Parts: sequence; C-alpha cells; structure tokens
Amino acid sequence: MSAIDGKILLTRNDSYKAYQKMTPKGIVVHSTAANNPYIRRYVQPDDGIIGKNQYGNDWNQSGVYVSVHAFIGKDKNGAVKVYQTLPFDICCWGIGEGRKGSYNFNPAYIQFEMCEDDQTDKKYCKTVYDKSVKFAAYLCKKYGIKPSKIVSHKEAHEQGYGSAHSDPDNWWSKFGYTMDGFRKAVKKKLKEKVKAKRACNLYSKDYKDPVGNSVSYINVKKGTKVNWELDDGYGWSKIKYDGKTYYVMNGNLNKTGLSKCKKEKLSENIKAFLVKKGKLQKPVKTLKKGKTVKIICNILGGKFQGYSYIKCGTKYYYTTEV
Ligand SMILES: [Zn+2]
Repeated sequence: MSAIDGKILLTRNDSYKAYQKMTPKGIVVHSTAANNPYIRRYVQPDDGIIGKNQYGNDWNQSGVYVSVHAFIGKDKNGAVKVYQTLPFDICCWGIGEGRKGSYNFNPAYIQFEMCEDDQTDKKYCKTVYDKSVKFAAYLCKKYGIKPSKIVSHKEAHEQGYGSAHSDPDNWWSKFGYTMDGFRKAVKKKLKEKVKAKRACNLYSKDYKDPVGNSVSYINVKKGTKVNWELDDGYGWSKIKYDGKTYYVMNGNLNKTGLSKCKKEKLSENIKAFLVKKGKLQKPVKTLKKGKTVKIICNILGGKFQGYSYIKCGTKYYYTTEV
C-alpha cells in the first residue's frame, strides 16, 4: 500500500482554476471540525470507491473558495483512505490569512484535511492519525520538507500564517495525540531501515531496466540494510544505500504492504522482444491476446527508453505495446 490510495482532482474548484504554481515549504494538518467522516462529503465525482454525495455540497465546484491538497477519511465501505485532491505544486486555499500572511501562498504549504466524526471513535481517530503520519512522511521525502515544518492549523495561526482555528488539536486531544508526537512519528518513519530478502540489484537511475544492459546498478547481498524512501506504486521503491539513491524491486525488500507490479490481460496480440547482451533479438515474438503479462517497469531513459519490460509465463520480454 502506498501513501496515497486515490486521486480525484477538484478541477472545478476556483483554486484549481487559478492554478498558482508553488514549491512546497511545509505541511499544514487540518481536521474538518464537522461530524462527517466520509470523503464524499468534500470530494466528487464518485470514482466508484468513495460514493456519491447526494447533497451537491462537495468542494469540486466554483464559489466554494476553500480547498486542500488531500483528504483522509472513509470511503463508501468505511475503509479509511487518503485521496489527493490537488496537484501538490499548486496553491490550495486551506487556511485563510494570519497577521503575517498565509501558508496558502507565502510561503506555500501542502495542506490536508482529516475528516472528523463525532469524536468518540478512538479506533477511527488512530487509523486516520497513522495514515496521516505515513502520508506526511511521503510528502517530506518527495519535497525535501523537514518534519519541523509540519504544523497544525492551530499552530499556523499562532505563527501568524492562518486564520484562528483549533484543528486538529481539538479532535486529537480527546485521544492523547499531539503535534509534537506527530512530528516525532514522521521523523521516525523517515529513518526506517529495511533489509534485502535476497541478493538483488539496486539501480542507480529512476528508470529501471532489470536486465541491466542500459543502466548502471550494483548488486547487494541478502540481509543488506537500506533506508527505505518511497514506493512508486508500481512495484518499485526508491531507497538510500551508502549515501546514494537507488531503485529496487519491492519483492526484494522485507517490508510488508508495498505495491506490486501491475498485471495486464492483453486485449490484442502484441509484439515483444527478447534481449541478449543489450540487443533486441530477432525474430520478434507475438504474445497472444488474452495472455496475462506482468509489467516489471516502464523504461524512462537510456537505450531502451519507451519500452516496457514485461514477464509472460516464465520468460521476460521488452515491448513498446503495453
Ligand atoms: Zn483547518
């Protein structure tokens, strides 16, 4: 499971239409201060998972004048999910003005809302808190944000960069959660070490070519400790080893909950190539419609840029057609 479960952009919100570009300097944590734990209250249209808002009062419309980059709350089945609702590099309208300015713009922070319930469900509060820690750690890694730059709406106001609100402290305090504890938990998550389950290759570019003919890589032994950074959602993780950034297949790491390579059932015949010593081999093989292929990676640079590396049956191929 990656840090973000779904994405529905609020394209009809005025803040999206304004599309003011920004570089994230921190994170503001909000809670909604309303008894409605469902994401659909704020986010639409329904993607089949969050459910439909029957009342037409969601934030994906003009004239609402409020928005955030993500929501954490329940889907239609009650599972707690993180939904991205704006690109992380445009300004949201989440916090209003303080005496010195606003974390919406100057400096601009990524902001997310946790959907409150009636503040009596301890388990729900914990699940949302844990998801928020993971999500904030993801943002810190992706944008180089220090955990010390994570604030609550309440703290943003105290610092002079937000309107007077008390979220999410008003909710968290019921169950013993604090912003200091939250920052500490994010910090701990950022230092997470994992081990290689077997001898494997660490690739040094953010395009990954498991045959290794067009990218550089190193081989590490089983049990090697690495710093886990990010899951790309397609079966690979970004890690740090020996002070350098590498990419590794999730199946090689002893960490649970990571994404797996996508599988696809071919809707038509495709052409695929075997590769030997860095060269595409002839003849070209035809993989038949109806077969299931596993997409190991899409190669974004180097000699095989534009190809996907796939597995079909027990064999590996390169193709440009999936
Ligand atoms: Zn708030």
